[in-house]
Amino acid sequence: MLRINIALAALLLLLTQACSIPPKAKGPNSKPFVVLKLDDLWQEDGLVHAGWQQVVDFLNKEKVTGTIGLVCESLEKDDPAYFDWIRQRQQEGYEIWHHGYCHCRSTVEGVEIREFRGADYAAQMKHLKNAQDLASEKLGITLRSFGAPYNSTDEFTAQALAQIPDIKVWMYKETQAPTDKFVIQRIAEVNIEYPVHIPDLEKLKAGYEQFKDEPILVIQGHPRSWVEEPKRFETFKQIVHFLKAEGVRFTTPYAYYQLQQASGQ
Ligand SMILES: [Zn+2]
Repeated sequence: MLRINIALAALLLLLTQACSIPPKAKGPNSKPFVVLKLDDLWQEDGLVHAGWQQVVDFLNKEKVTGTIGLVCESLEKDDPAYFDWIRQRQQEGYEIWHHGYCHCRSTVEGVEIREFRGADYAAQMKHLKNAQDLASEKLGITLRSFGAPYNSTDEFTAQALAQIPDIKVWMYKETQAPTDKFVIQRIAEVNIEYPVHIPDLEKLKAGYEQFKDEPILVIQGHPRSWVEEPKRFETFKQIVHFLKAEGVRFTTPYAYYQLQQASGQ
């Protein structure tokens, strides 16, 4: 009987010990970071396009972080209400990023020249720096991330960017030219709009399923294009709700860069 009791006690002890072994340490949150790369802010309609206002109102209500691609020529003319609108977004957590000076393109002798693809080094340098200086002087904001208009760049863009150390992150770098910037690449299959300007929930879901193991997804959209057809904005809202339900971590390019620096990667 004693022997059985000892055996029972040993068994109980074993069980207790088994239960007290700490569970395997949980890995880091495996959900991807998501950057809402929203393009093309400039002054219009007396302040900003209605598409921008409705996106900001929605994201604020949802407590979702967005980013705003600013075309900096719009800062040339002093407009306190417009400047305040941008600064307010920054205070709310949006990252205001460098989306060129003019967002312009022209055709010279049958060849299309884009702001950062095809223009010479001096012109690209001037546009990059003008934009950076305007944001600093007019808004008091140091732009930290760059994404080219039309996502078009070349080796001169890389060289010119190297002269602006305040810019740390380059979104959607397409040129093969080397850079010292932190690059966040585009994954064409995961996007807000398919094709450009038209949000598509089902395609976003399919792309997300395929690439949700990536550390970060930068998905691009154009809020100004979501007003003319209300369904477009409704679809964008559904996309945000879907991503929230998935538990993704919304962030900004510069915040993500800082996180990577802090973790030594
Ligand atoms: Zn653009």
